[in-house]
Amino acid sequence: MSASSRTGDASNKVTGRGPYYGEYGGRFVAETLVPALVELERAYEDLASSEAFQSEWRSMLADYVGRPTALYRADRLARAIDPSGDKLAELWLKREDLCHTGAHKINNALGQVLLAKKLGKTRIIAETGAGQHGVATATACAMMDLPCEVYMGELDVARQAPNVARMNMLGARVIPVTAGSRTLKDAMNEALRDWVTNVRTTHYCVGSAAGPHPYPAIVADFQRVIGDEAREQLAQKIGALPDAVVACVGGGSNAIGMFRAFIDEDVHLYGVEAAGEGVESAKHAATLTAGRVGVLHGSRTMVLADDDGQILEAHSVSAGLDYPGVGPEHAALKRSGRATYLTATDEDALEATRQVAHTEGILVALETAHAFARLADIAEREHARLGRSAVVALCLSGRGDKDLSTLLERLAP
Ligand SMILES: *Cc1c(COP(=O)(O)O)cnc(C)c1O
Repeated sequence: MSASSRTGDASNKVTGRGPYYGEYGGRFVAETLVPALVELERAYEDLASSEAFQSEWRSMLADYVGRPTALYRADRLARAIDPSGDKLAELWLKREDLCHTGAHKINNALGQVLLAKKLGKTRIIAETGAGQHGVATATACAMMDLPCEVYMGELDVARQAPNVARMNMLGARVIPVTAGSRTLKDAMNEALRDWVTNVRTTHYCVGSAAGPHPYPAIVADFQRVIGDEAREQLAQKIGALPDAVVACVGGGSNAIGMFRAFIDEDVHLYGVEAAGEGVESAKHAATLTAGRVGVLHGSRTMVLADDDGQILEAHSVSAGLDYPGVGPEHAALKRSGRATYLTATDEDALEATRQVAHTEGILVALETAHAFARLADIAEREHARLGRSAVVALCLSGRGDKDLSTLLERLAP
């Protein structure tokens, strides 16, 4: 089928834009890691563009993940948001929630673990916050028979018990991190430290389009299958490009995967960050909207930091957006104005979750709900820009089953 064959050939090469995206990106890491990053970059360029790698990866996406994922026209939700249809003509949902393990993260995890295997690595490490990337990596490792160790802040181990159990079931070892705030940024530091020591045998499977070069480029390439498929499916269904695409932004991997296919076209790109309890409060994760330039996890990017440059804790009701940094390409897209970044609060996301469930029968992840929460504004902006009703495509990054306990606590029935 053409939609899946598009994910091969030229579309999966390193973009050639690294190591920097404008003034962002780079590799700010311990000197011992530089050769490993260079090796990874070279190997990726050779391997990932090879026919053998592409066909192996493509058949995993098709037969194991369930790609291409559906593209669904959500008419009831579109009419709930804009009853007249004057502003939002059509709303298309790219259903990454239908992927094996329930979100887009598996696309990247399978790609990186396959790459590591080809590189002769015998051990995989990863970091995880909510546990979603840990589960995806543990899944890929079980499937490709490699040992997997996942660093996770001690606080998150306690908060995300079901995903810890899932990783254990999949044969991975979860290592609780007791340093710092005992959350995601500390787990990432610990994983980098492990990698410095074990770099010859070990591949560090980074979970978002963040970290030192070449990770942001590699992860974006493994996730661009989302946008490539959506573009192809829209061509078949309506014979046109959308006016705008929308995705939620944590580290930024599902968003960049969606954006990539449309970046050279006249399509507006919208990312939605988590505003937590409000951007004015200290409790949010709106890095691009309210952060500053800094270095985090080997990359110069936008971060949440205090006046002394100390990284601050992020906050969001959705654990997957709860990260005080963001991928450097998003920082550059914001800087150049090519993409627009909006925010949604915890309350907005909870309300959007309820609305999508009631109108469409789809229980979305709380991360994704942030993107849904801004659809009315986006339709408004597009109407003002175009002078007509807009066609919008949204990346539905994952399903909400993992959030049921939060929903039970926070949403009255
Ligand atoms: C992890 C996660 C995100 C955030 O990660 P990105 O790298 O920004 O895509 C978004 N949605 C879901 C469902 C996730 O699990």
